[in-house]
Amino acid sequence: MEWRESLHSRAVTDIDWDDATAEATSLLQEYIRIDTSNPPGNETRATDFLAGILQESGIEVSVAEALPGRGNLYARIGPPGPTVCLLNHTDVVPVERRYWSVEPFAGELLRGSIWGRGALDMKGMAIIELMTFMLLKRQGLALRRGLSFLAVADEEAGSTLGAAWVQEHRPAWMEADLVINEGAYGMANLPGGNQLFQVAPTEKVPLWLRLTAEGRPGHGSVPHEDNCVERLVRALARLEAWKQPLEITPVMRAHVMALAEAGLVRAKNDRDIHAAAERSPGLRARLANTVVLTSISTGVKVNVIPSEAAATLDCRLLPDVDVDRFIAALRKTLADDRIGIEVLHRSEGAATGMDHEFVEVVDDVIGEMVEGARLVPEMTSGFTDSRIFRQRGVASFGFIPCLIPAGELSGIHGHDERIGVGNLRLGMQVLTAVVTRLCGE
Ligand SMILES: [Zn+2]
Repeated sequence: MEWRESLHSRAVTDIDWDDATAEATSLLQEYIRIDTSNPPGNETRATDFLAGILQESGIEVSVAEALPGRGNLYARIGPPGPTVCLLNHTDVVPVERRYWSVEPFAGELLRGSIWGRGALDMKGMAIIELMTFMLLKRQGLALRRGLSFLAVADEEAGSTLGAAWVQEHRPAWMEADLVINEGAYGMANLPGGNQLFQVAPTEKVPLWLRLTAEGRPGHGSVPHEDNCVERLVRALARLEAWKQPLEITPVMRAHVMALAEAGLVRAKNDRDIHAAAERSPGLRARLANTVVLTSISTGVKVNVIPSEAAATLDCRLLPDVDVDRFIAALRKTLADDRIGIEVLHRSEGAATGMDHEFVEVVDDVIGEMVEGARLVPEMTSGFTDSRIFRQRGVASFGFIPCLIPAGELSGIHGHDERIGVGNLRLGMQVLTAVVTRLCGE
C-alpha cells in the first residue's frame, strides 16, 4: 500500500516516521505480552505499562482502580477546558490457543506484522493514540485545545469497571467535546484502487435478555399441558418467525452510497439496498433490529419433566429504537404471559451526526495522504465505550485510521489477530495530522 507523507503540517513533517514506527512496533509487542484477557482483566498491569511510558515523556498521569487490579488511566496536555479525547480500552477477549499459529501473548513480529491478542482490538490503536499524544507533546506544538488520553478497563465485559466507572467516579476525565475511539477500521486494496477509511458516528444498541418459563414438574411417561420446556420452545419458535423490518438509517444510506460511488456495490435506490442486505448478513444486521437466541438451559434427567427452563437472547437494536417499546413487542410475540423477561444488560441509543468538524478534517487529511482514499460513514454493529460518551452528548467517532486487508479483520475476537507495521505508521501519521488540525494553533 502506498501513501504520500505530504507536507501539510509542521508537526507531521518534523517527525522522523522511521523512528516513530520502530518505537510503536516495540511498544505494541510489549503491550501484547501483558495478558489482559477479561475475565479476569488485570488491567492495572496495562495502566502501569502505559503510565511508565507517559511519565518518561514528562507527562503527568492519573490512575484509578475500580477494584484491585482493574485500573483506568488518564493523561492530558494543552490548555484547560474540554479536550479531544483519544479513548482506548486495555482489556482483550480470551483466546482459544489451539487455533492460533503463534503464541497469542508473545507479541511476535512476523512477515511485517505484529501478532497477538489485541493487535486489532485494540492495543494497536491504543499505541497509535499513545504515540500521537507523545509526539505532539515532544514536538512542543502549541495547542489551542486540550488533548487527552484515556485508557479504560473492562470494555469487553460491558464497561462496568471501565468507562461506566470513570463516568461515576472520575467525571473530570470525561470532559471532552470530541472522542476518537475504536468502532470502524479502514479497508485496504479494494477493487479499483480504493482505500476506504470508515468513520462511525453511531452503533447498534445492545439488549441482553433472559427468558424464564416455570411449569409443573412430572414424570416423563405422563405428558401434561404445563411442561415449561415445551412452552418455552413454542414461544421461541414464535420469536424466530418474528420479522424485523429493514430500516435504512441516514448513516447506512450514506454508507452504501459511498460504497456504490467507489464501485464496490451496485445500489441506486432503497430497493437495491434491500436486495444487497439479503445477500449480506453483515449489512442486514446494520439495517434492522436483530434477535439472536444464544442459549437454552433446562432439564434434569431424560424421564423428568423439569419445573424451570431458560433461554438467553442477544438483541441489537437500531440507535433510534425505544427499548421499552421493543421489549413490549417482544413480550407480545412470545404470547405467553408466564414467560418471564429479565433484562441482563441494556443501553439507550445515542448517535453523533456526520455533520461535524472532525469528519471534514479526516476527509481532508486522508485525501492529502492516501492515493484512492475515500471516507465512508459506518454504523458499528457491536458496541463500544463511545456509547457512554454519546449518551452524555459528547460527539464520539469510531475511527481507526488503518487500512486492513479484508481477510485480517476476522482476527478481531478470533484467531491469528495481527496488524501490519505499515498500518501502525499510517495510523500514527493520519491521527497525528487529524489531531494537529483539531487541537494545534
Ligand atoms: Zn474493542
